[in-house]
Amino acid sequence: MSQSLLAPLEQKLRALEDQGLRRVRQTTHTPCRPRVIVEGEQLLAFNSNDYLGLAAHEQIIAALQEGASLYGVGSGSSHLISGHSKAHRLLEERLANLLSLHVPSARALYFGTGYMANLSILSSLADSAGSDLCIFSESLNHASLIDGMRLARSPLQRYAHCDTEALAELLTRSTARTKLVVTDSVFSMDGDIAPIAELLALCERHGAWLLVDDAHGFGTLGPKGIGVLEHLRLRSSQLIYMGTLGKAAGVGGAFVAAHETLIDWMVQRARPYIYATATPPAMAHALLTSLEIITGAEGARRRAHLEELIQQVKAIPLPAGWTRPASQTAIHPWILGTNAATLAASARLRARGIWVSAIRAPTVPTGSARLRISLSAAHTHDDLTQLAHALQ
Ligand SMILES: *Cc1c(COP(=O)(O)O)cnc(C)c1O
Repeated sequence: MSQSLLAPLEQKLRALEDQGLRRVRQTTHTPCRPRVIVEGEQLLAFNSNDYLGLAAHEQIIAALQEGASLYGVGSGSSHLISGHSKAHRLLEERLANLLSLHVPSARALYFGTGYMANLSILSSLADSAGSDLCIFSESLNHASLIDGMRLARSPLQRYAHCDTEALAELLTRSTARTKLVVTDSVFSMDGDIAPIAELLALCERHGAWLLVDDAHGFGTLGPKGIGVLEHLRLRSSQLIYMGTLGKAAGVGGAFVAAHETLIDWMVQRARPYIYATATPPAMAHALLTSLEIITGAEGARRRAHLEELIQQVKAIPLPAGWTRPASQTAIHPWILGTNAATLAASARLRARGIWVSAIRAPTVPTGSARLRISLSAAHTHDDLTQLAHALQ
């Protein structure tokens, strides 16, 4: 291969290395649990999004095996050709039913990933409204929403983090026929929750859609784990709800729940949905069991334990110079600032048997590199005591 093609890449990789920004993947040899074997080392992990500890749950493993027996392994095709199985349909019906109290006339659409779901919502709405669409985007939105907006190529206005007044002003001034406000519910690198009730009131006043990305809320928030809308008791046909199923639900994929007309439009026009092979039906089958656990007594017990762990982690004293933004969720950022300090702290914890990832730019703004502690109901109080001791 011509050296001139590789040389610029090698140079950029070296520059990333020098800035402490070169990423390497760590190979795990065990299921996703608090105690894992990583590159041959046994570690206590605080970095998964498996908030309820369902990723290695016996009943869900059995359901996945049963799904493979019932439906085989691959779906064989996209949903619109022949890949849409009964398992997908049952899952979508169950999800629509769960969200129906919050989104009237809801239907649900299941996707292979949340990333695809976000690309699909944004690009298909833009496809319908064309240049009459204006998107209003929260400044800390997840990368998949940002990429969806790029794909939509609609006019875009950004508002500062949780600044509802700034958004109100933008909406008032906008002359767009179709308005869409886009926000994460729980911010993935900070753990705080967007003012969804206020945002929804604004959207209703201005006739705007509100797209809520509840990747970190579905399963963990609300009495039955149905997410941020249940937690805040919100209901509106202007809501477009996106929940992921690979985090608290422990399996994989994501869904959009919205008015049936919008879902039907997405089936016609969402290219990331139409031009992708349907997920293995066994995954949808396993998710039915996961949803039973999430919404039942066991889910409630797991959420109650997670809540105790959240209170416990907030009380851990931090070394001088580290800061911790307030968080009511399972995500707790400990901000050190520089990449070098954050990588060094992560390495020192690892030497004591604790695995916490260093989060750096561009995932978070430059200068706010952090250790991101994420808790799971599978953690014990002793696990957090061990983390606190390792910090001393
Ligand atoms: C993880 C995440 C996604 C993407 O979901 P996947 O199913 O992992 O593709 C989207 N939005 C937010 C806020 C997330 O944290």
